[in-house]
Amino acid sequence: MGFAEVAVGVPLDTTFHYTVSAALSPSVTVGRRVRVPFGKRRATGWVISRPETIPEGGFDGELKAVEAALDDGPLLSEDELALYKWIADYYQHPLGLTLKAAVPAGMEKERVRPKTERVFAPVAGTGDDPGVVRMLRAKAPAQASVLEAIQANGNIPAADVKALLGPKGVAATAALLKKGLIAVRRVEVLRSPLSRASGTQSDIVAHEPSGPPPLTPEQATAHTEIVCAIDAATFAPFLLQGVTGSGKTEVYLRAIREVIDRGKTALVLVPEIALTPQLVGRFRARFGEGIAVLHSGLSDGERYDEWRRIRRGDVSIAVGARSAVFAPLKNLGILVVDEEHDGSYKQEEGLRYHARDVGVVRAQRAGAVVIMGSATPSLETWHNATSGRYKRLMLSKRVGDRPLPPVEIVSIAGKRRKSPLSEKLQEAIRETLGRREQAILFLNRRGYAPTVICDDCGHVFKCQDCSVSMIFHAPGLAKKAKSREPSLFIEDEPGLETNLGDLAGGRGWLKCHYCGRQAHPKENCPQCHQPELRLLGVGTQRLERELKELYPDARVARMDRDTTSRRGSHEEILARLARGEIDLLLGTQMIAKGLDFPGVTLVGVVLADTTLNLADFRAAERTFQLLTQVSGRAGRGDLPGKVIVQTFHPEHYAVALAAAHDFEAFAAREVESRRELFYPPYSRLVNVRIHGVERSAVERTAMDVRDRLDIALKGRTDAKVVGPAPAPLSMIRGRHRWQVMVRAGSSATARWAGRAALGVLEGQKKGDALRIELDVDPQSLL
Ligand code: ADP
Ligand code: ZN
Repeated sequence: MGFAEVAVGVPLDTTFHYTVSAALSPSVTVGRRVRVPFGKRRATGWVISRPETIPEGGFDGELKAVEAALDDGPLLSEDELALYKWIADYYQHPLGLTLKAAVPAGMEKERVRPKTERVFAPVAGTGDDPGVVRMLRAKAPAQASVLEAIQANGNIPAADVKALLGPKGVAATAALLKKGLIAVRRVEVLRSPLSRASGTQSDIVAHEPSGPPPLTPEQATAHTEIVCAIDAATFAPFLLQGVTGSGKTEVYLRAIREVIDRGKTALVLVPEIALTPQLVGRFRARFGEGIAVLHSGLSDGERYDEWRRIRRGDVSIAVGARSAVFAPLKNLGILVVDEEHDGSYKQEEGLRYHARDVGVVRAQRAGAVVIMGSATPSLETWHNATSGRYKRLMLSKRVGDRPLPPVEIVSIAGKRRKSPLSEKLQEAIRETLGRREQAILFLNRRGYAPTVICDDCGHVFKCQDCSVSMIFHAPGLAKKAKSREPSLFIEDEPGLETNLGDLAGGRGWLKCHYCGRQAHPKENCPQCHQPELRLLGVGTQRLERELKELYPDARVARMDRDTTSRRGSHEEILARLARGEIDLLLGTQMIAKGLDFPGVTLVGVVLADTTLNLADFRAAERTFQLLTQVSGRAGRGDLPGKVIVQTFHPEHYAVALAAAHDFEAFAAREVESRRELFYPPYSRLVNVRIHGVERSAVERTAMDVRDRLDIALKGRTDAKVVGPAPAPLSMIRGRHRWQVMVRAGSSATARWAGRAALGVLEGQKKGDALRIELDVDPQSLL
C-alpha cells in the first residue's frame, strides 16, 4: 500500500496522487511508467515520488488507484527525472508532457512492441550438448551439421532455414524437432536503420581513409586539451570553432575514442536528418556497430529498438538529431553538438526545448565534457567562449592547408534578367561541367515560384488560413518539359515572371507551406477577372528546369522537402553525388551543411537574400551562417573550389563578411548591435504568443498579458517588455497570432515573467479557442 505521485501526460501544470495496491507496490517505483485512471479515461503517467502520506488538503473524495506498472522496470533514473524536472521548469511546460518527450513516440501510446521472429533453438540439457552432435554424426550426418550450426549461432530463424541449409537441411531440422533436440522459440529481432541504409552509406563514405589520419597541429592541440578534460572527469564545455573543412569531425571522433576507452558513453547531436548519413557513416567506419542512431526519419519500430539498445547498454555511442538529447545513455562521458548554431536544435512546438542547451545542462549534471562545434558559432555560444565560460579551441585552417574557396559576390539588383542565374554563374557552371567536376546550387525556397500575382490589379494569391502567399508548384518536370513550358515574361525586379495561363487548368497547383492547403489557380484573376496572372520569383523547381534547359547534358538532381519525402531518398541522392552520378545538385538548406564531397568545386548561392529579409533579429546571423555553410561545401578535396553568391544586397555586412570568411569581424559587429538593443546574448528572451480563432479575443488577451507583465515586472530593472503586436506571421491555420516579448537580464526574471503571462488565462476554461504559449529562448520570432 501507499501512495504515488504521478505526472500524467496532460496539459495541466500539476502532478496527481494515486493509491497503490499491495500487489503493485513493489513495482511502482520512482521513474516507472504507470497506467492510471484519469477522469473518464486511462492515461500513462510517470511515478515522481512514493509519499507515505499525502499532502493535506486539495483532495476531495477518494483517490483512485494505479492500475498497472508498465515496461519491465523504471525507464528513468532519479538523475534523469531530476533533469526532466529542470527542463519542465525552465521551459515552463507541464512535467507530464515533458516526460512524454523522453520516450519514443510510439511507445508512449503503447503502439510499438518489440518485433519477434520464430527461430529454432537448441533444447537445454540435450540439444545444446556438443556430445549429441558427435553421436548423430555417424547415423544422421545432415542432422548433425544442422544441430552444430544451430548451436554455433544460438539459433536459426525459421524463415531462413531453407535459404541457409537447403532442402536437406529442412528435412534434418524437422527430424531434430521431432527428437526434441531443438524447439521453436520467439526471439526479438532489432529493427536497425543502419542495416537498411548500409548500401548507400558505404558509398557516401567511400572517400574516407580507413585508419585515423595523423592529426594536424591545430587538431592535436585541441585534442590534448579535450583529453585533459576527459581525464579530469568533470563538466567541461568547449567551443570548437573551426572553419569548414578544418577537420572538426576528426576531433570529435578522437575524443569519443578516449571516452569509450575509459568505459563511458558518448552522445552526438547533429542538426538535421540530411546530415546524418554521412556523419553516421564516418562514425561507423571508426567504431563499428556499437552505434545507435536516432532521428525523425526512422520508423516508430526502429526508433523504439534503437532506444532500447541504448538503454540496455548494448551501444555506447548514440548519434542523432534534436530529440536524441534524451537518449537514455548511462554514464555519459562526452556530448558533441555538431553545428551548434543550427536552428533545428530548437523544437518549435509542444515542449519548446533547445537540444544544445538541454545537452549542456545534462552534461553538467553528469560531469561530462561538451564539444560544441561550428564554423559560425551562435552569438550566445561565441559570447560564452570569449567571456571565458566555455573554453575556445580554434581550427583556423582547412585540412591539408587547402584554401577556403574565394567567394565572388554578384549583384542582381536593378537588372532585368531572363534567368535566375547570372551570366557569371552560368559561365562558372559551364566551366565546372567542362572539367567534369561537380557543382552545388543553393536556393532556400522550394516550389516553382513563391508568388502568383495579377498583373492588372496586383492581387496576390494568399492562403485563406495563413497570412502568407501560396507557393506555385509546377506539374512534374521530367517528361517533355519543353513542349508545355510557359513563356517567360521578364519584368521589373525583384522577380522573374512566367505567364500562368499556360500552366493553369490542372497543370500545377498552389500550396501553402504552413498549413498544406492546396488550390488550382484559375486562368483569370479571381479579383478583377483579367487573364493576367503571372508567376513571380524563383523556387527550386523552377531552378531545376532552368538548369536542365541550360545544360541539357548535365545530370541534375534536386534535393528539397518535395524530393525527399520518401524515407531514405536523401541518402540516395547523396550516394549518387558521391559516386559521381550527379553533376549539378540543387537544393534548399538541406544541402547547405555538413556535406563533404571532394568532387564539388563550385557552389552557387542563387539568392542570398531569402534569410536577410526576415523580420527577425537573427536575420543577419542566419544569413552569415547559411552563406558560410554552403560556401564550405566547395573545394574540400584536392581540387580548388570557388563560390558565387547572387544578392540584391551586396553591401550588407552579413554578405560581405561571409564572403571574406571573417566570422570574428561579423560576430564583433553583430554582438555590438545586440548589446544596444538588449537582445541575446545580452538578454534572455521569452516570447509570449497568444493565438486563437477570434481576432478581437486574441488582441484583448494580448493586452491583458502586457498589463500583467507590467505589474509583475514592476521594480525589476532588468526587464523590458515589447508589444503586444501581431506576429510577423499574423495568422496560421486560421488562428490569429499576437505576441508580447520580454527581454530579461537573468533567467530568473525571464521565468518570473513567463509565469505571470501564463497566469492570464488561469481560471478560464481551457480549450482550443484561446491559448497562451511561451517560447523561452526563441530561435524564431516569426
Ligand atoms: P569539418 O567538420 O570541420 O567541416 P571534416 O571533419 O569534415 O571538417 O574534415 C574535412 C575532411 O578532411 C574530411 O574528408 C576528413 O576526412 C579530412 N580530415 C580531417 N582531419 C584530417 C587529418 N588530420 N588528416 C587528413 N585528413 C583529415
Ligand atoms: Zn495556409
